[in-house]
Amino acid sequence: MGKLIQGIRGFNDILPDAYPIWRFVETTLREILQAYGYQEIRLPAVEKTVLFARAIGEVTDIVEKEMYTFADRNGESLTLRPEGTVGCVRACVEHGLLHKHQPRLWYGGAMFRYERPQKGRYRQFHQIGAEVFGVPGPDVDAEMILMTGRMLRALGLADLELQINSLGTAGSRADYRERLVGYFRRHHELLDDDARRRLDMNPLRILDSKSQSMQGLIAQAPSILEHLDEASRAHIQRVTEILDAALVTYTLNPRLVRGLDYYTRTVFEWTSKDLGAQGTVCAGGRYDGLVEQIGGPPTPAIGFATGIERLVTLIAESGRVLPTPTSHAYLVIVGEEAVAPAYRLAEELRDRLPALRLQVNSGGGSFKSQFKRADRSGARYAIILAAEEVVAARVSVKDLRDDAAQLSLSEAELAALLARCIDG
Ligand code: ATP
Ligand code: MG
Repeated sequence: MGKLIQGIRGFNDILPDAYPIWRFVETTLREILQAYGYQEIRLPAVEKTVLFARAIGEVTDIVEKEMYTFADRNGESLTLRPEGTVGCVRACVEHGLLHKHQPRLWYGGAMFRYERPQKGRYRQFHQIGAEVFGVPGPDVDAEMILMTGRMLRALGLADLELQINSLGTAGSRADYRERLVGYFRRHHELLDDDARRRLDMNPLRILDSKSQSMQGLIAQAPSILEHLDEASRAHIQRVTEILDAALVTYTLNPRLVRGLDYYTRTVFEWTSKDLGAQGTVCAGGRYDGLVEQIGGPPTPAIGFATGIERLVTLIAESGRVLPTPTSHAYLVIVGEEAVAPAYRLAEELRDRLPALRLQVNSGGGSFKSQFKRADRSGARYAIILAAEEVVAARVSVKDLRDDAAQLSLSEAELAALLARCIDG
């Protein structure tokens, strides 16, 4: 036997046991997105490196150290997408979706970041995200926050915290930035290496530092909310009024800056206390300058993304058990002559009952071992087809979940029984 070549660190297999919760999360989010008028868009997992560098910002964690970048065989630099917004914007501009339209789009899929793998933080992870283009807000900002709240409640995650902030406009941020740099300069000795490096390039990102030693300094920093331009102040005010009217609880956190450079005005995060440092399960914000920055028409936009692994972990740890869908019936085949008729019968049943989950025994086996497999499959009924029954067009049926005697049924009676099982 050859030695196994194992999977890559930080790239997870999602095994069938975990799948019921994954499906529950994905289906729930998809249904809510559809209900709010979002349409699905599927985007490639790879884009040109320059696209991310330009859009996300050169001095962000993602672009500086987390991207999976490689040269393809033509020598072009490509990158596995670390997030979904940038590719979505690129696609919208490229396909002219933004002219006279206000698309609401959602997407899902794997994202890739070279981070230190730990609970809630992986190198391949999955997001569902959504974007609204062409609406300046604040109405849609509030609606998006309400929608994400609904998603989390629908998943049974009620005790999450919502934080919101406004990053203002490019102009107001420049003023604030100057004050912030002044403040950090005065406390230069307290800055860690990362922060010192960021001081000139991207001082706001220092507020997002996860370094414990700097939390005190960050808490005392000037507040961006006190340096907003008039329009941005009115904008965030209106967002909070709509949230208040909808009875949503939130914290205004002036230190919430988000890890990417492209945000303007409203930003928000939903966090859980139960995931340690990886507490953010859903995050988003407005990015009114990005579309133009990557070559599209000036278009206000807002979006969010939610990390599926973190949601799945929270649901699993809450002890919630979701049933694995099992077969309705398992077809046991007795004798070689019954094999072809069994597959014919199975296909006929599937024609008649499209919702039927029917597993046909494959690989032969004794009556006893087939019955064991039927039991292990979790199916409600074992259908037994033996050669002599083929001639009579009858089957035997045993209810595996009670002690009732075996029945002998015609194919029509079998179909009726299975139809009741599907409905029930
Ligand atoms: P964090 O602060 O935890 O690093 P982030 O701000 O980098 O998160 P975003 O870029 O906003 O995250 O991505 C949105 C969501 O995707 C996060 O809230 C999180 O749930 C999830 N996510 C981000 N990075 C990872 C990762 N490496 N592994 C698993 N999930 C992730
Ligand atoms: Mg991150």
